[in-house]
Amino acid sequence: MLTREELERYDRQIMIRGVGEEGQKKLKQAKIIIAGSGGLGSSASIYLAAAGVGRIQIVDHDSVELSNLNRQVLHGDEDIGKKKVISATEKLKKINRGVEIEAIEETITEANVSQLVAGFDLIVDALDNLPTRYLLNKAALAMDIPFFHGAVYGFEGRAMTVIPGKSACLRCVYQGITPQEKFPVIGVTPAVIGCIQATEVIKYIVGVGELLTNRLLAYDGLSMKFTELKVKKDPNCEHCGHLVKEG
Ligand SMILES: [Zn+2]
Repeated sequence: MLTREELERYDRQIMIRGVGEEGQKKLKQAKIIIAGSGGLGSSASIYLAAAGVGRIQIVDHDSVELSNLNRQVLHGDEDIGKKKVISATEKLKKINRGVEIEAIEETITEANVSQLVAGFDLIVDALDNLPTRYLLNKAALAMDIPFFHGAVYGFEGRAMTVIPGKSACLRCVYQGITPQEKFPVIGVTPAVIGCIQATEVIKYIVGVGELLTNRLLAYDGLSMKFTELKVKKDPNCEHCGHLVKEG
């Protein structure tokens, strides 16, 4: 049930055809995990908390540094030195006290990934490196949990939604490992991509629209163009090749 306060708070989105009170209840019941509380994680979590996603777990092992603040808008000057998950929890609770925020201060590894994502309805990839993305992608597929990918570089970004067994996974699209190094980024890029991920998450939970599956959306802020690359589930993919689902 939605309370009177919730009906008022979410009035404008409940008005959307296909959302309604039923959609809002689904958002309230949803349990999601956001991996990373940096640029993408800031943008995605702010809007998902504001939309009334009932339970949001944030996983990050880093502390806030001065050089994060150009893009990681959940954190500010007063948070420098603080654990990002703590800073994120404080801010998100201010945005929406009706949402349950859980902070997990951990590095995602092969050993803990399954345990971290178990029981969640979906995973938001707000990470900054491919090796950890592969770990999450693999765990998402193994545990049949939808996976919402986002990545940024400079003025460019990408997004894709993975429905295990049904659509192309991250590994079908990306090959190899890129070196883990400091890369350039302007804050507006993760803002755009994080919002695209949040939009996909809301659509998935409510059950409206057409998901960004089998399509890699590439955004170029400099030319201000969105390009869509058609992708296919690779039957020989080492992560998802063995998975087949009807429908
Ligand atoms: Zn695959």
